[in-house]
Amino acid sequence: MTFGTDILKNDQINTMAVKRINESRILKLLYDEQELTQIEIKERLGLSAPTINQALQLFRRAGIFVDGEELKSSGGRKPRKIAFNYSAFYSVGVEIRPHHVDIVVIDLKGNVERTKTFSLDFKNSSAYWSGINDRILELISGSMDRDSILGVGISFPGEVSFSGDMIERATVLGLYNVSLDNIKRYFDFNVYIENGARAAGFGALWRNESISDAVYIVVTDDGVAGAVILNDRIFKGTGKAGAFGHMTLDPNGKRCFCGARGCWTAYCALSNLSELTDGDLKEFFRRKDEGDELCLKAWDRYLDYFAQALDTILLSMDLDIIIGGKLARYLRDDLPLLKEKMRRHPVLSNEEAKVSIDDTYSNALAVGAALIFVSKFLNGDMRALQAG
Ligand SMILES: [Zn+2]
Repeated sequence: MTFGTDILKNDQINTMAVKRINESRILKLLYDEQELTQIEIKERLGLSAPTINQALQLFRRAGIFVDGEELKSSGGRKPRKIAFNYSAFYSVGVEIRPHHVDIVVIDLKGNVERTKTFSLDFKNSSAYWSGINDRILELISGSMDRDSILGVGISFPGEVSFSGDMIERATVLGLYNVSLDNIKRYFDFNVYIENGARAAGFGALWRNESISDAVYIVVTDDGVAGAVILNDRIFKGTGKAGAFGHMTLDPNGKRCFCGARGCWTAYCALSNLSELTDGDLKEFFRRKDEGDELCLKAWDRYLDYFAQALDTILLSMDLDIIIGGKLARYLRDDLPLLKEKMRRHPVLSNEEAKVSIDDTYSNALAVGAALIFVSKFLNGDMRALQAG
C-alpha cells in the first residue's frame, strides 16, 4: 500500500482499475453463459446495480450485449435476458509457412467464419507483409467492418522474444533478429506475433474446459515444436521454454537443421515419412494402411523416437500432453500403440500417459493466434470499444 501525497492519485487509478476489472468480470460471465438476466449477473458476481448498469450500457452500445430470450412478466413490459453477441467483433489469425499463408477469421466464440490459404514464398519484405494485409482486407470485405477486427495474430515458425517485440530466430525461414515494428507497419490492424506451437497450444487449452496445464506438441513437415501452457497461459521461461523439438535423442545421430545431431525434429519432422512417397504424406499413410512393408517399418521407427521424446517430456513436466499439427489426424488410430511404446521406459511402465490428439481445426495455429486477441479483449483490453 502506498501512503503520502500520491494517495489521491492512486485512489483514482484504483477506482478506474476496479471499474475495468468489474467490466471484464461481467463480460467474461456472459461470454461463458451466453444468456443471463440482470438479476442473475448481480447474484453471480455480487456487484452493485449501478456498477452492472454502467457496464451493460457500455457493452450494449458496442453491440456486444443484445436482447436475449423474452421472460414471462406479471404485468407491464416483458423483461428480457441479456445475450452475448459473439459476432460483435472478429479476430484474424495468420499462419506463416515457408511457401504458404493461411488466414482465418474467427468470431468471439472461436468459430471460423472465413478462411483462405494461398501460395506465397516467405520473404521478409514490404511486398510480402503488405500482400498479407491486402488478403485480409479482401477476406473481410463485404459484411465485416474493418473496425470490428480486434487484431491480427500471426503464428510464426520461430522463436519470438520474451517481450514479443522481436523474432529472434526462424531457421526454417532463414530469419534472424527482426524487429516486429518492421512487420507491424505494413498492417492496418493491431498485430501480435507468437510462435506457432505456443499459439496452437494456447488455443487448444482455451477450448478445453477440463484442463488448464499441458504441454502442446505441433508436428509439421519441417519439424517438431512445443509449448508449455500453465494456468491457461503460455509459459515462456526466459524465452525458450517448450523448445522440445531440439531435445537430443541420439547425440551421434542424424543431423538436424539447427546444427545439432539427433534432435527429435531430425527424426520426427513429417518429411521423414513423406520422403518415401515423393513428398506426399497422404500417400505415405495410404500405403502404410495398405500394409506396405517399407512404410510400416518407417512408421514404427518414427513412433519409437516419438515415444522416447514424450517419455522425456513426461518425466520432466508430468503434465497432460496434447499433439496437434498435421500429424494429429494420422496419429489418432495409433495413439494406443504410441502409449504402449512410452511404457517401455521402466519408470513409466505403469503409467497411463495422458496423451491426447488435437485435430479440432485444420488451421489450429492460425486459430490459436487469433484467439490471443479474443483473450486480450475478454481480459480487459478494451481498445476496440474506445475506437468505436
Ligand atoms: Zn535441432
